Amino acid sequence: EPKLSGDFATLMGWADKVRRLKVRANAETPLDADTAKKFGAEGIGLCRTEHMFFDPARIGAVRQMIMSESEGGRRDALAKLLPFQRDDFSELFRIMAGLPVTIRLLDPPLHEFLPHKEEELAEVAQSLGADLATMQRRAADLSEANPMLGHRGCRLGVTYPEIYEMQARAIFEAAVAIAKETGKAPVPEIMIPLVATRRELELTRAQVEKVAKEVFAEAGQEIEYLVGTMIELPRACLTADAIAGTADFFSFGTNDLTQTTFGLSRDDAGKFLPYYVEKGILPKDPFVSIDPEGVGALVQIAKDKGRSVKPELKLGICGEHGGDPASIQFCEQTGLDYVSCSPYRVPVARLAAAQAALAGGSDRTA
Ligand code: PEP
Ligand code: MG
Repeated sequence: EPKLSGDFATLMGWADKVRRLKVRANAETPLDADTAKKFGAEGIGLCRTEHMFFDPARIGAVRQMIMSESEGGRRDALAKLLPFQRDDFSELFRIMAGLPVTIRLLDPPLHEFLPHKEEELAEVAQSLGADLATMQRRAADLSEANPMLGHRGCRLGVTYPEIYEMQARAIFEAAVAIAKETGKAPVPEIMIPLVATRRELELTRAQVEKVAKEVFAEAGQEIEYLVGTMIELPRACLTADAIAGTADFFSFGTNDLTQTTFGLSRDDAGKFLPYYVEKGILPKDPFVSIDPEGVGALVQIAKDKGRSVKPELKLGICGEHGGDPASIQFCEQTGLDYVSCSPYRVPVARLAAAQAALAGGSDRTA
């Protein structure tokens, strides 16, 4: 049972009095959300919805969705997934009890959703009424040489709009139901992943807004919500002024931003990076601590450009760096509003945020 007590709780209380940065957690399961809350998280800063899709009860429908060559087939599969997602979001809203919940729409590694084994292919063939050879061809068509630079993030939402529409419907239906039941509406912060251009955000934001209108009309009730974007590609940083026109918030995805800034695969970083760090070729592992001259400079550019068109733009970070004290100090100095980290790092982040505030340097007041 995670809980803070005694002297540690007292110390945390002091830290909370001096820190300016808010601390949220990355969580998608009820257990993680609950743990985060007990450790003092002030919201969920990243709910990675693709993790929810691997549940054995739904992976069949997920494969059906991906493998269908028709919109109708995808919509059938998505109709099966909608109740699951509605329950997922209801639970998170309930646990977080009015604190902000940032829900990132699907950002799948497409290759992890594709059927590989013979029996998986046979099952999806049956669900789509297709033959095995057609399914094998489709799987081959969808497989990519570099999935992390491929058909993922908002690119999937742009090409298959019905996916994000289903997720938006689940979010709004869950939020409206809780508002009716408790009299207090959750405020979902819907986040679009891997945006490189303003147009991608415009298209996906329009999908979300369309569904919001539909659900509010059906329910006879409206709730507030935000739509923002991950900033995790160099191009998004360099065009952040254009993107900010369509975004209520930015959250820096420093895992992908590090990968794309260094041109260094995050999945293979362990291979030679330790040698670089040991020899002092790089002062630190850039996947752990923000490299101020590279990723840090891009974050600064995005912040300046974003706030130049929208001074109130809310800024957070949800990459692994959000739980790293040196990076938290960078976030304080840059004037971000919050960091989001894994639930067990929340206490460390609260202390680091306090330390960073005492060290001074933010150009943004609490
Ligand atoms: C990131 O890229 O920093 C991020 C938070 O998203 P993910 O790790 O899920 O790609
Ligand atoms: Mg990412």
